[in-house]
Amino acid sequence: MRRAPERGVYDTDAIHAILDEALVCHVGFVPDPDDGQPYVIPTIHGRDGDTLYLHGSTASRMLRALADEIPLCVTVTLVDALVLARSAFHQTLNYRSAVILGRAARVTDADERLRALRVISERVLPGRWADCRPPTAGELRQTTVLSVVISEASAKMRDGHAGDPPADVTLAHWAGIIPLHTQVGGAQPAPDLHVGTAVPDYVPAGSLPRRI
Ligand SMILES: Cc1cc2nc3c(=O)[nH]c(=O)nc-3n(C[C@H](O)[C@H](O)[C@H](O)COP(=O)(O)OP(=O)(O)OC[C@H]3O[C@@H](n4cnc5c(N)ncnc54)[C@H](O)[C@@H]3O)c2cc1C
Repeated sequence: MRRAPERGVYDTDAIHAILDEALVCHVGFVPDPDDGQPYVIPTIHGRDGDTLYLHGSTASRMLRALADEIPLCVTVTLVDALVLARSAFHQTLNYRSAVILGRAARVTDADERLRALRVISERVLPGRWADCRPPTAGELRQTTVLSVVISEASAKMRDGHAGDPPADVTLAHWAGIIPLHTQVGGAQPAPDLHVGTAVPDYVPAGSLPRRI
């Protein structure tokens, strides 16, 4: 890391923690080296040890391209705060991000595929996998699962106030940190939810299901 290397983190636990907190990642790749057009596609991920799992429709161009084991770059970003400085120049964000370089491999083993899908589902909402209908053979046939070994990865973190130069500190412009949080809203039951369906503990309080 050349730019602001003091913000670089190569600690495995720190990288894993960022991956585990982020709800989505962005996957960068060049599907066709002849035209060289890069794509960066947002998608859901899950981590099991040193393996990152991606999944999706067998029709996905991204997954078909990555299954050919072309180079990829997976990025996750968590934005923690707006950092206001006296000058526009020193305005910034507090963040934690991770970048993984590597190649994906198609997961073909039936047990690992199911485990990967559970890991991805549990990443989105812990406890949900055991609470919903498992995938059918047909659904599994329509699903590609890829694994990426997390071997070449970096994290970058920024924390704290803006680095205003001393000459700016006396200026009458407000400076400080505005923290940002992802918030869970009140749940909205499916309009066709059967009356009497138990509401799991992880569903936040919201309106009651209508009678159908
Ligand atoms: C939310 C957010 C907002 C940002 N806004 C800006 C901005 O407006 N302008 C700006 O210049 N930079 C911004 N950055 C920092 C940016 O991500 C780069 O780190 C920085 O621009 C240096 O890029 P570079 O190509 O010179 O990195 P280099 O230092 O050359 O990177 C070398 C390698 O380090 C790794 N690396 C680089 N950046 C990151 C990272 N963020 N996380 C993990 N690994 C990394 C990659 O593997 C990369 O190939 C932001 C970062 C975040 C997370």
